[in-house]
Amino acid sequence: MRRDGFREECGVFAIYGHPEAANLTYLGLYALQHRGQESAGIASSDGREIHCFKAMGHVAEVITPQVLAGLPGQAAIGHTRYSTAGDTALHNAQPFSVACNKGRIAVAHNGNITNAMELRRELERDGSIFQASSDTEVILHLVARSRERTLAAALREALLQLEGAFSLVFLAQDCVIVARDPHGFRPLAMGQMELSGGGKCYVFASETCAFDLIGAVYLNDVEPGEMVIVSPAGLRRERYAPAAAPSYCVFEHVYFSRPDSVVFGRSVEESREMLGRLLAREHPAVADVVVPVPDSGVAAAIGYAAESGIPFRHGLIRNHYVGRTFIEPSQAIRDFGVKLKLNPVRHLLEGKSVVLVDDSIVRGTTSRKIVRMVRSAGAREVHLRISCPPTISPCYYGVDTPTKAELIAANSTVEEIRRFVEADTLGYLSLSALRQAVGDERLEYCYACYTGDYPTDIVSVEDLMAAKPRR
Ligand code: SF4
Repeated sequence: MRRDGFREECGVFAIYGHPEAANLTYLGLYALQHRGQESAGIASSDGREIHCFKAMGHVAEVITPQVLAGLPGQAAIGHTRYSTAGDTALHNAQPFSVACNKGRIAVAHNGNITNAMELRRELERDGSIFQASSDTEVILHLVARSRERTLAAALREALLQLEGAFSLVFLAQDCVIVARDPHGFRPLAMGQMELSGGGKCYVFASETCAFDLIGAVYLNDVEPGEMVIVSPAGLRRERYAPAAAPSYCVFEHVYFSRPDSVVFGRSVEESREMLGRLLAREHPAVADVVVPVPDSGVAAAIGYAAESGIPFRHGLIRNHYVGRTFIEPSQAIRDFGVKLKLNPVRHLLEGKSVVLVDDSIVRGTTSRKIVRMVRSAGAREVHLRISCPPTISPCYYGVDTPTKAELIAANSTVEEIRRFVEADTLGYLSLSALRQAVGDERLEYCYACYTGDYPTDIVSVEDLMAAKPRR
């Protein structure tokens, strides 16, 4: 379930060389909607002008046929956002588009630049004026101020000044450039699609589920520290930064990405099912049914059921159509927020001992509401199983996690958490099992929210706080 604890981050998409670039970007963003629901935007290039539209709301709500008609050209980039830096107003929605001495450019970003405040202070000292509070705008200023003559060279220079996590898509009048930070925290996949009149074009997306919808084929990932330029001259791949130790965000596999995506070259569904299998081995339970917290707990629950031999049941049903405009009852209704999203199937739960599988416990309050809901539907016992280790540290690489003070596992033992969420038993997956489930033999993933061991220097406490979302 998308819940109050972790928020979605962002999704990016880019396409070059297709006559319906904006329409396909719209579809790509539609497939990436789960990565951010606050704002959506597309910028397109007709070879002379960059046309840009962005608005607060879901992709299908705000990007209408009339909007798409105003986005001509064969190249486009798109963004769907949940804020991880900067506030949530429209001026922070992406893509950002500017005219500068390198021509007209637009950019969209997934991640979090950990030295953005430091860079911004320097730029402001030198006269730059910022319109938004998002870290992404810093990149455009760095590009605009570069003395390099070409956009690609200016971009290279700008990217080398950034720290933290970024998967970026740029649009210029005559090219698309995409880049990934040297650690590769956030995913960025590259694909190809056939043109109806013959020939091929290139597409890029945060997740491969965007390619499936538009009929593109996944080729490979943009490598950490790599920049890919697609222009009339064709496709060029180059390293802009020396190789660093990879730090792929393991949480993409635990929770964020869609299970039908291939992320960091690996099927998310395969990882999640393995998380469930290993969870069953580490924390078995004597129970009648395995019930997922939908949707994000489903694949792990399937794995748990397969490994344990306990039947899998959809004992909680999720309402997928919860909009932002519902009317709350004026009388207080207990656990209203969770009831709006989930409803128990009483006849599957009544009198049963239930293994309840979820992907994480953040503050603990939502988990407690769900445990209570299962119990109030008649469950005799609730054995809560979590398909990752306890979340003890915030993320500074683009995932909106609460502060350490708010993270229940940072301040409580597993037994204390069990009592708080009112489960009969509680089991978390171990770190070594998480590594095994994502096939991380070469230690290429980031696990900092489970270990507190960050793979990069976080610039300063002040910047670190500034990198956190302002609510
Ligand atoms: S700290 Fe956690 S959420 Fe953030 S990049 Fe690392 S694994 Fe992902």
